[in-house]
Amino acid sequence: MKEIVFATNNNHKLAEIRQMIPEEFRIISLADIGLTDEIPETAETISGNALLKARYVYERYGKDCFADDTGLEVLALNGAPGVYSARYAGLSCSYADNVNKLLKEMNGVVDRKAKFITVIALVFNGTEYLFEGTVSGQITLQPVGTSGFGYDPVFLPDFQKLTFAEMHPALKNEISHRGKAVQQLIAFLRKEQ
Ligand code: IMP
Repeated sequence: MKEIVFATNNNHKLAEIRQMIPEEFRIISLADIGLTDEIPETAETISGNALLKARYVYERYGKDCFADDTGLEVLALNGAPGVYSARYAGLSCSYADNVNKLLKEMNGVVDRKAKFITVIALVFNGTEYLFEGTVSGQITLQPVGTSGFGYDPVFLPDFQKLTFAEMHPALKNEISHRGKAVQQLIAFLRKEQ
């Protein structure tokens, strides 16, 4: 069985991907390989950060590895918060702090177009691959819904009536940025097996 490291400390993401990946691949975590370092995310792009994380593991352990990075790009804010989505309201801010800052910055803005982007970087048999998933939508005027995380309560995907935070998680996974990037990763791994 081929082992691939998923460079994340997020157990929710690990469980989600283990359910979707072909049985021939065993997804192992950073804890499984004994890596406890805080992997630096110092790149200026989403794909740059995903690559930094995947390379960090590959260079130290020589194991096939993938990592993901996500950002929310708001048109009226020239693409912000983008690569800084996790720390938009400050270094140790909460999801609610980020949402509040976003709504404040968008006060009075009529064109509320935004998109989520996830990039998965994979180092596989020594070669690097990138898989990107996006979803377009609008930033709502106020938070709606309680499920999900991050900016979910203020993101209304195009062609939907519910925000990500009101939606069933299965529907969110089907149409979301991360869901689409993961589907591409899976299609690649299926071809390789
Ligand atoms: P990460 O790269 O997956 O850690 O995501 C960076 C930041 O983007 C997170 O801290 C969240 O605030 C936000 N984010 C990522 N994915 C989602 C999502 O599916 N919904 C809402 N916010 C998200």
